Amino acid sequence: MKANAKVIEREKRSVDFVGDHVAINFINTRRMHEGVLADTLQSDENVIAWMRKMDIRLPLLRKPLRPKALLRAARSLRTLALRALEQRKAGKRVRLEGLNTFLAQAISHLQLKARERRLDLQRVYLRRDAKRYLAPIAEAIADLLAHGDFDLVRHCEGEKCVLWFYDRTKGHRRRWCTAEGCGTRARVAAFRARRAAASK
Ligand SMILES: [Zn+2]
Repeated sequence: MKANAKVIEREKRSVDFVGDHVAINFINTRRMHEGVLADTLQSDENVIAWMRKMDIRLPLLRKPLRPKALLRAARSLRTLALRALEQRKAGKRVRLEGLNTFLAQAISHLQLKARERRLDLQRVYLRRDAKRYLAPIAEAIADLLAHGDFDLVRHCEGEKCVLWFYDRTKGHRRRWCTAEGCGTRARVAAFRARRAAASK
């Protein structure tokens, strides 16, 4: 494996990607860090860096956004996404107003682009404000809610973990955000419990 491929592989296994779906990865930007709930989105730059990491195309804005506008919009979209996901998972009525407001801002059109001898078809978003900037994420959330198989959308079974994932494993028996993290902790805890029971 080339060094670069190795880095990509490790990155893919990093917590940023455990959701295995852009919308869930976005929800997972709130996560436990050393026992405390932490928000990895602390600035506009963090939001942009996260979108880049997820391969969401980011054309330059003609006018810069107001400071923290992107951060505020991203956090409010994430709150809406998490609530909708929990409601959908629980089989409750999903509150759609806030998400639909975001979707209404998602103005885009298709564009053909010549690349050597082939033509690529790309979706171009008009991004003049923070809500529009986040349009591809809002659409990923909507797509998950409408088309996702919610038997496969699951919460990590880790005791204090807040992460979700889309179980794309063959047997659909995934239980943890990461095998090394929550999976290992659970195995160690089960082992200790067995040993304690045996010594009684
Ligand atoms: Zn976990």
